[in-house]
Formats: sequence, structure tokens, C-alpha cells
Amino acid sequence: MSSRSLTVLLSAEGPHLGHLICKSCGDVIDTLPTSGYKKLYSTCDNEDCKLDSRFSYDD
Ligand SMILES: [Zn+2]
Repeated sequence: MSSRSLTVLLSAEGPHLGHLICKSCGDVIDTLPTSGYKKLYSTCDNEDCKLDSRFSYDD
């Protein structure tokens, strides 16, 4: 898995304006020190959400 695009977004310091959001339930999983407000999507530890990521749809 490549994390290159994420690395580019990160700034070394500053406020955590990046929000890592669960694409399934919408929970904020984590915040990241990005250079501007960014929304990043991932999947949280919830079993249902992990299942969703295995069977993901485009809509
Ligand atoms: Zn979730």
C-alpha cells in the first residue's frame, strides 16, 4: 500500500487541520497536521465498517 500521496499532504508542524474520517460511519478516526483543511477517508475499527470496506461500492 502506497502512502505517498498522504505524505505529501502532511506538514511537519502546525494545527491538525486534516481529518481522517471513516467512510462508512463518518466518525473522525484521527487528525493530521496538514497544511490546510483536508478530509481523508479511511475505515475505523468498527467491525461493520471493516466489512463495508471489503465490499465497497462507488456511490
Ligand atoms: Zn466506521
